[in-house]
Amino acid sequence: ASFAHCNLPSTMSDNLLESGYVQPTPIQMQVISAALFGRDVLASAQTGSGKTVAFLIPIIVHAWSLSQFHEGKGGPYAVIMAPTRELCMQIEDQTKKLIKGLINMRTALIVGGLPMPNQVHRLKKGVQIAIVTPGRFLDVINQHEEFNMNNIHIVVIDEVDMMFKMGFVKQVTEILGKMLISSTNVYRQTLMFSATIPESVEKLANSMLRDHIRITI
Ligand code: AMP
Repeated sequence: ASFAHCNLPSTMSDNLLESGYVQPTPIQMQVISAALFGRDVLASAQTGSGKTVAFLIPIIVHAWSLSQFHEGKGGPYAVIMAPTRELCMQIEDQTKKLIKGLINMRTALIVGGLPMPNQVHRLKKGVQIAIVTPGRFLDVINQHEEFNMNNIHIVVIDEVDMMFKMGFVKQVTEILGKMLISSTNVYRQTLMFSATIPESVEKLANSMLRDHIRITI
């Protein structure tokens, strides 16, 4: 198998090759096909398995087609939540490499420890993919009711077990709840990743995902 079988925008295929990614890793093969098919996913995947690219490809494809439809306006269309600023920064770096050359595709980093006004300004200028830590994102949402949550069609929650360990699950749940309220007529696709799947993660997945596919590598 190769990425060529995924029917990706050709600019993105070029970007994958430029990053040196020729063959999908096992987690990528499973997650990409399930997610591009529209399914919710709970995947157990360690760092190093290629899990970031596994969720970025469906996120970018989805956001890009919405961006074409809306001419880049009304975003973000996709939100990636991760427990730490460092992880969010790494995810944003990888995203930028994969969206290079795609028109109307911009990212925003909404994380603690960096000035909030800049982050809000960037969001307001219009982005398609937001990469966020739960606490800061919730602050932004709560302080800016004008912020548009209506077009968030796909969400990734990375390192769900760490979200539990760091006490962020309440915030994650609250954020997802706000997205549900605004998108009444569209179904939001959700992808969850976790190194381990203890009962707590399983329960969260069962309550948040719709008929999800479970992927274990
Ligand atoms: P991750 O599990 O997301 O932390 O990724 C681990 C490393 O694998 C990262 O440095 C990626 O750049 C790299 N990687 C991801 N997908 C591929 C691929 N298909 N082929 C080669 N390397 C990859």
